[in-house]
Amino acid sequence: MAKIPCTCGNRIIDISDNLPTKGAIIPNQLYDDLQGKLDEIVIGLKKHRENKEILTFNGRPIPANATDEDIIGITFFSYHGSISKEIWQCNACGRILIWHKGKERFIFFSPDSEGSENILSKDT
Ligand SMILES: [Zn+2]
Repeated sequence: MAKIPCTCGNRIIDISDNLPTKGAIIPNQLYDDLQGKLDEIVIGLKKHRENKEILTFNGRPIPANATDEDIIGITFFSYHGSISKEIWQCNACGRILIWHKGKERFIFFSPDSEGSENILSKDT
């Protein structure tokens, strides 16, 4: 995504990482699954180091020269992406937009109180 149209007429720019107007939501119902995936990654790394078992990801072997950081990054962020919902805040009107994967469209929420600016920033 590059420019997301808000209902106020503004276009939300999404062209880089570390945006203060973008975030992700993980449904509480999937916290246990996320913990299970993290455990799976750690156990997989231990087996890989101890027994030289070939690690796979999505059915494909992970290169033998991949570092632990590479493996954790590949598996965690892919899983995170599969369970999380992308969220943006319009910097013009403060609306929150959440991408609804099932409906293939944005769902809009308007702020109902003061002080909602930059709510997705790491500094808020
Ligand atoms: Zn807006």
